Amino acid sequence: MSAKVGRREDWQGEHVLVTGGAGFIGSHLASALAEVGARVTVLDDLSTGDIENLLPSLADGQVRLLRGSILDNRALVRAFRDVGHVFHLAATVGVQRVLERPLEAIHVNVHGTQRVLAQASKCGARTLIASSSEVYGPQSGPLKESLPLVMGPTDTIRWSYGCAKALSEYEAFEHHRRFGLPVTVARFFNVIGPRQTGRYGMVVPRFVSAALRGDPLHVVGDGSQTRSFCDVRDTVEAILRLAESEESIGQVCNVGSDDEISIATLAERIVAWTGSASPIVPVPPETVYPGGFADIERRCPSLDRLEALTGFRPAISLEESIRHIAAGIASRGELEEGASG
Ligand code: NAD
Repeated sequence: MSAKVGRREDWQGEHVLVTGGAGFIGSHLASALAEVGARVTVLDDLSTGDIENLLPSLADGQVRLLRGSILDNRALVRAFRDVGHVFHLAATVGVQRVLERPLEAIHVNVHGTQRVLAQASKCGARTLIASSSEVYGPQSGPLKESLPLVMGPTDTIRWSYGCAKALSEYEAFEHHRRFGLPVTVARFFNVIGPRQTGRYGMVVPRFVSAALRGDPLHVVGDGSQTRSFCDVRDTVEAILRLAESEESIGQVCNVGSDDEISIATLAERIVAWTGSASPIVPVPPETVYPGGFADIERRCPSLDRLEALTGFRPAISLEESIRHIAAGIASRGELEEGASG
């Protein structure tokens, strides 16, 4: 049975499952839930997540980690025991990882989510699933949830990630209609913060690491493509408010920032804010993403629905986020190789 959480203090003592909780967003969410008194189970196969992300929360006993896959029914049954809430974040993520392992990405993102939803329906758990702005395909912003979906061509594998997420959304709503699953779909736009890895094509950690090393920041194409970046602390706050909102059940909602910036300007700002002498070097897209890559010119959410449902608007500035990320990378000694965006 789903437990009722309407206010922040209601999380106290609640048992919450976070799939993908050893990853970037999931680990921040798990510690935020632990801070408000929830008992948190993380189910993660550690394919891109890292146990280190959870160390402080594991040590105080408020978070426990089950190492296993969302594709494994036995692991799911174990993870769901006595759970009233689930945040489903486990996925194969990142443009480069999806291009390198397209079949695995489709399998995990479609079938894994199917299994999580089936288990959540059996338990009646209040559920939030992580979708992505990629479901909007090659459309320009500000993107509203009510827009029809426009998918890129099926011979360009990068669109398979957005398709898989869209399919999961259909499935979530069908579970809501047929089985009464109290589910909310959150479409995340670019999220940034400490613990995000640049290994799979994420632009901000790659740029910040390169700037801290004094290496070139490689801007893909002419850098005029725009993105809007939302600090993970704002993202976690938005997710918690959505999960606390009765009205968000059965709805899809964008989660992100609507403060747009071009990738060329982002590179300049990161160099300035980190006090770096790194040069900014344009590179042709095909040298970074060989085959099957199609970039999106503009990516910006409409936040009207998020604000209407939760009263929340992101508050942390890009400069504050970048300084926080730079401090995290420097303290963890994670000056990853390569820089592109
Ligand atoms: P991440 O890679 O850091 O986290 C994903 C986690 O899922 C990892 O810990 C990984 O080990 C785990 N995982 C992968 N396959 C698994 C499996 N089969 N079983 C169990 N665990 C598995 O990525 P993230 O950025 O934290 O993304 C979290 C969620 O948010 C994902 O669903 C992603 O699609 C979505 N999202 C993220 C962004 C962003 O900007 N970071 C944007 C849009 C959507």
